[in-house]
Amino acid sequence: AGVAPARFDSAAEALHTVFGYDAFRGEQAEIIAQVAGGGDAVVLMPTGGGKSLCYQIPSLLREGTGVVVSPLIALMHDQVDALVRNGVRAAYLNSSQQAFERAEVERAYLAGELDLLYIAPERLNSEASKRFLAKGRIALFAIDEAHCVAQWGHDFRPDYLALSELADLWPDVPRIALTATATEATHREITSRLSLEGARHFVSSFDRPNIQYRIAPKVEVRKQLLDFVRTEGVDAEGTPVAGIVYALSRASTEKLATFLSQNGVNALPYHAGLDAAVRRRTQERFLREDGVVVVATIAFGMGIDKPDVRFVAHVDLPKSVEGYYQETGRAGRDGLPATAWLAYGLQDVVQQRRMIDESPGDLAHRRRLASHLDAMLALCETVECRRQNLLAYFGQPSEACGNCDTCLEPPTALDGTVPAQKLMSTIVRLERERRQRFGAGHLIDILRGKQTPRVTQYGHDTISTWGIGADLSEQQWRGVTRQLLAQGLLATHGEYGTISVTEASADVLAGRRKVMLRAEPERPTTRRTAKAA
Ligand code: ADP
Repeated sequence: AGVAPARFDSAAEALHTVFGYDAFRGEQAEIIAQVAGGGDAVVLMPTGGGKSLCYQIPSLLREGTGVVVSPLIALMHDQVDALVRNGVRAAYLNSSQQAFERAEVERAYLAGELDLLYIAPERLNSEASKRFLAKGRIALFAIDEAHCVAQWGHDFRPDYLALSELADLWPDVPRIALTATATEATHREITSRLSLEGARHFVSSFDRPNIQYRIAPKVEVRKQLLDFVRTEGVDAEGTPVAGIVYALSRASTEKLATFLSQNGVNALPYHAGLDAAVRRRTQERFLREDGVVVVATIAFGMGIDKPDVRFVAHVDLPKSVEGYYQETGRAGRDGLPATAWLAYGLQDVVQQRRMIDESPGDLAHRRRLASHLDAMLALCETVECRRQNLLAYFGQPSEACGNCDTCLEPPTALDGTVPAQKLMSTIVRLERERRQRFGAGHLIDILRGKQTPRVTQYGHDTISTWGIGADLSEQQWRGVTRQLLAQGLLATHGEYGTISVTEASADVLAGRRKVMLRAEPERPTTRRTAKAA
């Protein structure tokens, strides 16, 4: 078998010649030196930080082929295409290929004609693949999206667990694990599960100072979104800019895209259910045309390298802080001001809790999902700096940033004990006296003293808390309910999102515990005070 020769003597030379860049960014040079010198590395770097070069260049500096484990076929294609255009001998092995195509790639590898070989984890794990790889010379293993090995993480893939074998099978081949989403817990799991205890760790700052974070309570989400896109979706001259709107369901991406289009926004839907050709065209237009807004499920964005996305808006609550960070991270990669805007409401909390209850998997799995949601809710409900909360989640302490909604317009915290008690005692009365549970809408109707058909039918206008909450608007009550849910002082159940008290509610009802709530404007604004990086 042949051995792919080292293509360059120095990392700087490879950077200039192959990639056409002048200088390394951040810790790239140190990481490349570590791996090129035969050492292992764990790299935590935000999206857009430049992780790819950290294994591509060492593969060109060492003898043999760099083997890159990557879970996303589309990303593999893009990377290999870009490398081949730059004169790098790269190829991939995955399930999208015909047998003859794979045979040709295998031949090239064994002949020492490949600098880089991308491979999907499930393929690498097969005995046949391992035997095949062992016949050639491997320069290094790069494990991309390494957080997929963490069972506690938000994107666990069982195929990643078997990658721990690489250390035993190829003890002399350096390994580099990379991820853009790592809490301290995930970082520890990557290290232990991939046997990288002896590796050097490179942890970049996860701060994206040019991104302004804003989280607003959901009132009329379509109108709020349109206001947002009209104010933030244009540059100083009034020309539309590029943005991504994330929604949870395929149907809502289509409805929102239509709604935005009818209101003069150049908006297109994107989700995994659309035809591959349509998706490709949408991606192309997003990359090449100015001012395209893509309304998408989270299927959109991975591997899309568009530096000038000016905003990312979420109209549904993300499931985890990791996901939120990854998605918002697609804004402002060019370092210019960008906005991450999220609208969320009571219904999001109810819906996400229901999805967790109904999710397949064991109790431990549901607990994990619940803890991810709790962290996301804490970020939404904080009265302190959003960025500080976000970075603290990734184990990086920081000062208040001055470029998020809570810094720019500090919310007031108010004593919400009395409304909390009113709501809780309504729930307790219905449960204890009538053995019934209801959703937020009905509870709020009772508190506000509304004579709806349902209230009358159940005779709920006769319970003692009927009408005791007429001092707050329906919107305010929804805010109170949402915040109590987020704080674990209420719980939701089942398909209809019925609400119950929790153990912690007892202290509030007994007056032993105060409840602090964020005061919320009736009509949240979407003003922007931009700040450059
Ligand atoms: P990540 O995988 O961390 O999200 P990429 O490796 O895709 O990031 O890099 C993000 C972008 O930055 C790419 O367009 C890449 O070509 C560019 N880039 C990476 N390193 C450098 C550098 N040293 N100088 C200039 N551009 C760079």
